Amino acid sequence: MTVSTKSNIYSNFVGGKWVESSSGDVLRSINPANKNETVGYVQDSTKEDLNAAVASAKEAQYQWKKLSGSERGQYLYNVANIMEKRLNEIAECATREMGKTLAETKGETLRGVAILRYYAGEGMRKVGDVIPSTDQEALMFTTRAPLGVVGVITPWNFPIAIPIWKIAPALIYGNTVVIKPATDTAVTCAKILECFEEAGLPEGVINLVTGAGSIIGQGIADHPDINGITFTGSNNIGKQIGKSALQRGAKYQLEMGGKNPVIVAADADLDLAIEATISGAFRSTGQKCTATSRVIVESTIYDTFKEKLLAEVKKITIGNGLKDGIWMGPCSNESQLQTVLSYVKKGLDEGGSLIFGGEKPKGSEYDNGFYVQPTIFEDVTSQMTIAQEEVFGPFIALIKVDSVQEGLDIANDVQYGLSASIFTTNIGHMLSFINEMDAGLIRINAESAGVELQAPFGGMKQSSSHSREQGEAAKDFFTSIKTVFVKG
Ligand code: NAD
Repeated sequence: MTVSTKSNIYSNFVGGKWVESSSGDVLRSINPANKNETVGYVQDSTKEDLNAAVASAKEAQYQWKKLSGSERGQYLYNVANIMEKRLNEIAECATREMGKTLAETKGETLRGVAILRYYAGEGMRKVGDVIPSTDQEALMFTTRAPLGVVGVITPWNFPIAIPIWKIAPALIYGNTVVIKPATDTAVTCAKILECFEEAGLPEGVINLVTGAGSIIGQGIADHPDINGITFTGSNNIGKQIGKSALQRGAKYQLEMGGKNPVIVAADADLDLAIEATISGAFRSTGQKCTATSRVIVESTIYDTFKEKLLAEVKKITIGNGLKDGIWMGPCSNESQLQTVLSYVKKGLDEGGSLIFGGEKPKGSEYDNGFYVQPTIFEDVTSQMTIAQEEVFGPFIALIKVDSVQEGLDIANDVQYGLSASIFTTNIGHMLSFINEMDAGLIRINAESAGVELQAPFGGMKQSSSHSREQGEAAKDFFTSIKTVFVKG
């Protein structure tokens, strides 16, 4: 679309300058709490725009990698300080673009600041090991080289933290970056790029190109001068990107969907399990890859658990995430809302019982937003679609089991393996869960969503390309190992 006013149009950031797309067109980002409100416009970029960004990243990379780790780290510290100062503005923009509450987007912005500081420090830490050579007169060791230009493709659900947890390690290890965020949250991403600009990063070290996934995202996957691609998003798109990258020999990392279980054992602290289930399933309107979506409960406590869960879920206040007192915002876009409603229908068609929610909330304040009630099904079996497919909304399936072992078998009976929780006070159950649960994130007496930034993050099975992000693990993706043998 073409718009006449320039006030809220965000440009691409290429070679250290804000530039408009060669298409002359823009894409509109709207507020999911009120679809009539425009948050801003971003560039509807072309392949030529992407090529210019990649060329500028390629040109900048040699000088960038020649800086010491501590010099690169200083830039990241500067970005962190600027982002911290702009906390309220960035958080408010993210809430307006994707709907989650201001408390959550503030927390996410501060997480971004902490990640930047963590990787700034990483510039001073070791990059290799000395390995004893069989030759007494030789020195053998490993060091690490950056990949070169890294393409970053991000979803809308964590519009601040995900871009930062990819960009910060890419940069600290000497790569330069071209980022393409989801259009729904591209204004927030432009604000993040403004922080990098203000921190004075050399021209071309970080570049932003917004636009259609099929053009700019796929363009990144196919680009011969992009040496590494880090992607977070859906499975279908991730697999496509993996294929394109493999074909041309680029390194890739894919973090994708989840169908995360919580097992509640008969010996669990029920209040804790309920609080964690509600938070894990419904915070961010269930739009976390680590969100709780299957709650597997031992039959002897099932009725008590259900009753208490329903009593708590009734207290959830739904509304515009910018308003005080709101606990859950809208779905982030119309298609996500329709997806949730379509899974309600599938759940009913396949014999599940809807015991809470499942509809748009009533009242005029909800008319223009993509709101849906927190939704709970019971009488769910593991074969049902709602127990197998990722909904990515505030939606849980209750599954009754006769033992923790049966619960574990069901928990593993999906294609995904991102995060999994158990609530129990029995050490034997804890150990079985650690050993037998196929998930990259194992959580005991803690909600399925959430991981600390200094720890590896990623999934097993179809949730991930088996690489890990965050913490020290990021080094493995963003660098290549060189084994050095020196003979005196
Ligand atoms: P999506 O796959 O639709 O989009 C992700 C990104 O890929 C966007 O920037 C999009 O524009 C781009 N894209 C779209 N088509 C493309 C193409 N053909 N080639 C290249 N790029 C393309 O995902 P989404 O709807 O933005 O996010 C929701 C999904 O993300 C869920 O499945 C969720 O589980 C997943 N997710 C995973 C994690 C994780 O760490 N495992 C974290 C957050 C979200």
